[in-house]
Amino acid sequence: MDSQEVVRMISFLGQSYVVHAEVNAILNTNHASAAGQKLYVTMFPCNECAKIIIQSGVSEVIYFVEKRIDNSDHVYVASHKLLSMAGVKVRRHQPQMAQIPIKFQEPRK
Ligand SMILES: [Zn+2]
Repeated sequence: MDSQEVVRMISFLGQSYVVHAEVNAILNTNHASAAGQKLYVTMFPCNECAKIIIQSGVSEVIYFVEKRIDNSDHVYVASHKLLSMAGVKVRRHQPQMAQIPIKFQEPRK
C-alpha cells in the first residue's frame, strides 16, 4: 500500500466514523434549542452539516477557514446553496488580532 492509498483509506474511514464538529455541537446543546443561535466553526460546513444546521434552526454560521479552493468542490458549493436558500447567515470571522500571546507564569501574590 503506497502513501496515496493510505491517505485515501484514512479519508474513507474518517467519513465513516467521525461526527463533524457542527453536528456534534448541535447534538450537545444539552436539550436547549439551537434555533436562532450562532454557530462558530473553524472550517466552513460541508453539505451534510449544512442540512443539519438548517434543520436545527441555527440562524448564523461564523467560520474561519473555507476549505474549497475554487468552486469545483461540489460539497461546498452545495453547502453554500443550501445555507443561502434556507436564509442562514454565513460570514467569515475577521480576527482583530493576528495572534493571542499567552504568558505562562504564576500570578503574583
Ligand atoms: Zn461536515
